[in-house]
Amino acid sequence: MPDSRDLRPETLAAQALGWIETGTRAIVPSIVPATTFERGSDLGYPGGASYGRHGDALATRQAEALLARLEGGERALLFASGMAAMAAVFQTLRVGDHVVVQQPCYYGVGQWVRGQGVARGLSHTFVPAGDMDALDDAVRPGETRVVWIETPTNPTWDVVDIGAAAAIARGAGALLVVDSTVATPVLTRPIASGADIVMHSATKYLNGHSDVLAGALVVRAARRDVIERLIAVRNDNGAVLGPFEAWLLLRGMRTLFPRVRQASASAAAIAERLADHRAVVQVMYPGLANRPGHTIAARQMAGGFGGMLSFRPRGGRAGALAVHGRLAVFKRATSLGGVESLVEHRASIEPAGSKVPEDLLRLSVGLEHPDDLIADLDLALNSL
Ligand code: PLP
Repeated sequence: MPDSRDLRPETLAAQALGWIETGTRAIVPSIVPATTFERGSDLGYPGGASYGRHGDALATRQAEALLARLEGGERALLFASGMAAMAAVFQTLRVGDHVVVQQPCYYGVGQWVRGQGVARGLSHTFVPAGDMDALDDAVRPGETRVVWIETPTNPTWDVVDIGAAAAIARGAGALLVVDSTVATPVLTRPIASGADIVMHSATKYLNGHSDVLAGALVVRAARRDVIERLIAVRNDNGAVLGPFEAWLLLRGMRTLFPRVRQASASAAAIAERLADHRAVVQVMYPGLANRPGHTIAARQMAGGFGGMLSFRPRGGRAGALAVHGRLAVFKRATSLGGVESLVEHRASIEPAGSKVPEDLLRLSVGLEHPDDLIADLDLALNSL
């Protein structure tokens, strides 16, 4: 058996780190629903677990260990949702601290800092995604504690230079947090580029089957202080992932690599086809050479540009809604990163004041045959 340090990430994921269950020798861990565990007469915990709210479930620990390994971090922590993971980062801060958040990004982040963040005494500055001069101007040395970026950026899929953002954050004494939900460790490893924390809505690609709500934070080795603070927040909030969800997530992560690579290949084919279509005004996909951030994407993303793209059909909002209504293989639903392809009219789900164009349709490309997906889009677009 080769040393597991020499194994490739694909192998580590497929075998969930190769762990075999003690006692049963099972290749897949058992689901242990217990919320409490017996103490020894010496007041210790001989099984290593004490209480469910501490994230003690075996499947939780195994999924965390696998994710930490795939991201190259010291420790991963699972949460009850992506938003719970995101909130935990901001909840480690103190009254008077300042955060910088890129726009656009997943709308929940801006909503949190504007509402909960202000109520808790945090101040914030929004900067345009990828604008490093604006980021440099926005950070306040000694006061800014967190710089939050997302790449590729929802829903335009522009790619942000993680290394450049990390240098600016570090210079100001702030943590760089990267929402890497869409890139996944298959395509991008933010910690290797200087990020302090990688955040995932594990609801998406990590699980991959649209049947688990989960979030994750992975922290770089040099920031053990941050790990301790995040564990304290997770315990205090009780926002931990349950054993059954963790078990499903671990099962999903075993197939992460082939899923993300297939979705990326199909999304690239769809983006090329849409870019040529007479009834399409604009296609947003980081793999297209004319997109902002394409050069960074080519350097920062390895083996594909992801399974997410957006496009603007001819005819404004009415044209987009007509295409949205006619698609049949693509299912009309929010979320992303599952095996089934989804289409979403983004403006109708974002909060009031959102700058998302009224004619933008977002596609999450799944694992169906790409020709079926292209035929579905052609049929819907040809009627415009
Ligand atoms: N980040 C991104 C990029 C997302 O797409 C989402 C959800 O859509 C979230 C964070 C929030 O995650 P969750 O829905 O698991 O709370």
